[in-house]
Amino acid sequence: MSTTTDLIAGARRTTLSVYRQRELILERGHGSRLWDIEGREYIDFSAGIAVNALGHGDPDLLGALHEQAARLWHTSNVFYSEPPLRLAAELVEASDFAERVFLCNSGAEANEAAIKLARKHAADAGRPPERRVIVTFDGSFHGRTLATVTATAQPKYQHGFEPLPGGFRYGTFNDADALATLIDGDVCAVLVEPIQGEGGVVPAAPAFLRALRERCDAQGALLVFDEIQCGMGRTGRLWAHAWSDVKPDLMTLAKALGCGFPIGAMLVGARAAETMQFGSHGTTFGGNPLAAAVARVALRKLSSPDLLDHVERQAVAFRLGLERIGNTTGLFSEVRGRGLMLGAVLAPEHAGKAGAILDQAAAEGLLLLQAGPDVLRFVPPLNIGTDEVADGFARLERAVARFLGRD
Ligand SMILES: *Cc1c(COP(=O)(O)O)cnc(C)c1O
Repeated sequence: MSTTTDLIAGARRTTLSVYRQRELILERGHGSRLWDIEGREYIDFSAGIAVNALGHGDPDLLGALHEQAARLWHTSNVFYSEPPLRLAAELVEASDFAERVFLCNSGAEANEAAIKLARKHAADAGRPPERRVIVTFDGSFHGRTLATVTATAQPKYQHGFEPLPGGFRYGTFNDADALATLIDGDVCAVLVEPIQGEGGVVPAAPAFLRALRERCDAQGALLVFDEIQCGMGRTGRLWAHAWSDVKPDLMTLAKALGCGFPIGAMLVGARAAETMQFGSHGTTFGGNPLAAAVARVALRKLSSPDLLDHVERQAVAFRLGLERIGNTTGLFSEVRGRGLMLGAVLAPEHAGKAGAILDQAAAEGLLLLQAGPDVLRFVPPLNIGTDEVADGFARLERAVARFLGRD
């Protein structure tokens, strides 16, 4: 047996079977290329699920991590350390609405914090528990803790984990007309992704976001943007909601915030800035100095106009590449998304086959994601080079040819 099959056989015995990893073991990366322990090279169009926004081995991230690692690893939140203090100030400065920041370790934790804050904000206003409903939308994804999986309005993530926490209500994504009945006086917050990721790469219409803002204001509800996947420059602007004229009251971040070092954040605007007080919430690891030192560099680099211009240029290259494949093979019915967060929707005759295409892509040396069974998801590193894009598309074309030959 090869080392790969050996190690994977061991992992199947000793780890919870909650993932279905591809049969390869990644060992090292450089830019948008990765190598497995057998020495095979891959182009990375997945970026660790929109996390490695600066690719692999970025020297500035590495420098910040090394420097901080030699200085101080952890303090807990009983004591201050400098990196999280500076990161919080820089996030407030970079945002268009926030006054305060809560640092945590993951996306689910950031959304969990937002859910708790929204509930307390309503409680402080004298609302009884039955008037603290949180609205989310079909096709959303907000995390896997009990509260965030309940917020995630997709039965496949919830099944078997009942009883789920109460006080959630689901609406139809992008249906602005339904908001008048959906968001009543019993709603304390609306949680929404400006571009749904896991749900199939579906952008919210600017008019929908505007209608949400108006309805929330009318009912005294907080508007929460989950930018965990679509934020941090992925769309060509630092914040995905910056493509609309709508600002949230809360925003959650994680994935690309640490570019691969685990960190999450909840940003809080003026309306709710004083809701959480001493003792309301907390975390041991949140704002860890290592994570915060890395995230400071990530935020600086991902905010740079050059990087955001680069995203827009490479987005054009991705769209053209996908159009070419779509036109020559008829594989796609639609390409949607924004910047380097794109979804290629499989034509009806290939519905359900995203996984099979990913298999062929990996065999050709391309790491790709799906968003449900019918959508190929493209979330490459934001600094991906032109040669890497070209290489990746050559591999994708070969993978598609193999798939169509067998399908
Ligand atoms: C990934 C993701 C989450 C959950 O983040 P974790 O770090 O996996 O807990 C929440 N919301 C969105 C939009 C995501 O893409």
